[in-house]
Amino acid sequence: MVSTSEDLVIACDSEGRITWANPAMRRFAGLSGVGRLPRAWAAHAGAVADGTVAGVAELLKRALAGERMINIEVSLESSTVGWRSLAASGQRLVRSDGAIRGAVLVCHDITSEKALETRLSLRGRHDPLTRLPHRDLFGDNLQILLGRVSGNQRAVAVLAINLDHFSHISSRLGKDAGERVLVQVGQRLNDTLRTHESGSGTLNIATRLGGDQFLVLYEDVADQAAAERAAGRIHAALRAPMKVEATTLSITAGIGIALTADPSKNPGALILEAQTAMRVAKRLGGDRHECFVPAMETQLQARIDNAEALNQALDRGEFRVVYQPKVSLLTDAVSGVEALLRWQHPVRGEIQPMDFIPLAEESGLIIPMGRWVMEQVCRDAAQWATALPGGLPLPIAVNVSARQFEPGLAETFNTIIEQCGIDPQTICLEVTESMLMLDAELAVATLRKLKALGTRISVDDFGTGFSSLAYLKRFPLDELKIDKSFVDGLGTDPDAIAIVAVVMGMAHALDLSVVAEGVETADQVTCLRNLGCDEAQGYHFARPMAADAITGLLAARPPVALGGHDASASVIMARLSSGKVLVVDDAPDVRGLARASLAAAGFEVREAGSGEEALALAPHFGPDCVVLDVILPGMSGLEVCRILRGDPAHDTTTIVMLTSAADPAEKVRAFSLRADDYMVKPFSPRDLVSRVTASIRRRAEMFATIAP
Ligand code: C2E
Ligand code: CA
Ligand code: CA
Repeated sequence: MVSTSEDLVIACDSEGRITWANPAMRRFAGLSGVGRLPRAWAAHAGAVADGTVAGVAELLKRALAGERMINIEVSLESSTVGWRSLAASGQRLVRSDGAIRGAVLVCHDITSEKALETRLSLRGRHDPLTRLPHRDLFGDNLQILLGRVSGNQRAVAVLAINLDHFSHISSRLGKDAGERVLVQVGQRLNDTLRTHESGSGTLNIATRLGGDQFLVLYEDVADQAAAERAAGRIHAALRAPMKVEATTLSITAGIGIALTADPSKNPGALILEAQTAMRVAKRLGGDRHECFVPAMETQLQARIDNAEALNQALDRGEFRVVYQPKVSLLTDAVSGVEALLRWQHPVRGEIQPMDFIPLAEESGLIIPMGRWVMEQVCRDAAQWATALPGGLPLPIAVNVSARQFEPGLAETFNTIIEQCGIDPQTICLEVTESMLMLDAELAVATLRKLKALGTRISVDDFGTGFSSLAYLKRFPLDELKIDKSFVDGLGTDPDAIAIVAVVMGMAHALDLSVVAEGVETADQVTCLRNLGCDEAQGYHFARPMAADAITGLLAARPPVALGGHDASASVIMARLSSGKVLVVDDAPDVRGLARASLAAAGFEVREAGSGEEALALAPHFGPDCVVLDVILPGMSGLEVCRILRGDPAHDTTTIVMLTSAADPAEKVRAFSLRADDYMVKPFSPRDLVSRVTASIRRRAEMFATIAP
């Protein structure tokens, strides 16, 4: 992946205007943290005074003019890191119709190697760190081998190797350990040269280009399959356990293969082809090899074109946020929404996040984009600040990429939230499990800061990583989102049910609520409800929709069926209001607690201080449930129950008795009067809501089955 390599990569269009640069290049040019190139760069790259940029633009111009630059050494002064020695390779990019698209330049920083070389007077012969032959020697051998291929019809192969996650290894274990890894990798590569399957092998050579970039050259290669077998041996050699300090590592790499039997082939071009294939292997996730095919150049170019378009999309207002409702499985009411980004491309139409978020992450553009999403969300949130029953705000979940976790994130979010006057508790940030696994220290620190703002934190795609309970405890979390892949298996795959059950137990032990995502069928809903899942989200309920549609949904009280955008979802009776509850108790504090708990769960609540008052209110209010204290000042709760049950108008009304002290005789009496449930004070809000909800559902089912 371009962004994780230490290479500096930059591209220009056919006019020599800089159109794209990877984060390493931006850092080099003193633009760290900036998501996009400043306009000045794009407009007059060659003309600006900044020495770094001018130097780079000069190299690009040479590449654009058709010069093939392979690891030429240049010195450039960076405003951030001072003078550096670079090995630069450039290439002109030509479209299939022959038109010139622009040029791309890749530079390795070789400063430290150069300094050491000079000190040891080893210049030109060996890489001082790995002791591998210097890349000049590699170039010489390649030249000689290309001269020989015509006679024997066998090919020359160049393999470009880039280690996976190397920057992560060295930031975790320290620079010294990182260097020891490179030394061992060098040794192992050297060893694999000797085991090559054919030819004399005397000119086979491995070299390091700088950082974690290596090249291997094989002579006398029979065909592509033979070259791939060589790559396979390299994978195996690297993967063998490597002891570095107290840790044992298994190294993987992305490998690109280019081979030729054409003696007129330019050696530099062959190396660039191997590197292009290597980039593709890295982009496909690393730990694999790819053989160069010309289409790869077009692919990489298409990616650069896309990155360009994405760069401008923000300014041009091509993004919008849609919202997908989340539903409470306790009450069937809408309990929140998740904000999801969409890109309205002027030519290609609507583009889904899968097709541009990875690109935005790679280029760093996700940082300003994420800021924009948060601004948009907060504006919409202000509009929904009292949208839920009881005047409560609608909770909104916002996705945050690992790449956004950089210093200043919490401060930025805080400013936006404050400016919009949003209660931070309304916002729930979704971070992926893989991100917590990747860099736990950074994740803990950033999450603590975000948590301190008051926002909630959710773990997205849960179950796809391998977090343990102990591991999760380190993070300040509020919610787990079970990945769709497990939800898919519910009802068919016994393993999926077991896994979800375990997750549910784990989450509740940690006092986290659980949301299931990607719920598509009623069977899955039943299964999730039985497993104790708190909330669900998926096409079964509703697809993501525009903010206006959400506003409409929230305004359409009482009960609305969700999923107007999708016929298959119209069967769903997910409702905004969970129903009406009449709370009857003479103690105002008990009534207040009951009202708050039930209102928060979406119920419309009325209170009565006595049985007489309750009986007067009931016919007008038409409650779905009456929560009835047993001991009341005048008429007792049991008496009220008897009267309500005698009135056919209240057949479907659920009655939950509430008592101060459990008394078996009283309980028997309550049930014989056909109360639906009997609860003992004190109660927790969660308890009350779940008993009331379950009672209403049971009674509704009872009437559904006996109805003609
Ligand atoms: P995610 O966070 O896992 O979001 C859920 C994805 O599943 C959404 O796709 C949603 O439309 C889709 N989905 C929901 N219910 C169902 C269902 O029943 N069946 C199926 N097949 N799919 C369902 P979407 O909108 O394409 O988003 C994809 C991913 O892009 C998100 O996955 C999230 O990781 C990322 N993303 C989206 N918006 C943003 C954003 O603003 N910032 C960041 N950093 N990432 C975002
Ligand atoms: Ca999400
Ligand atoms: Ca997810």
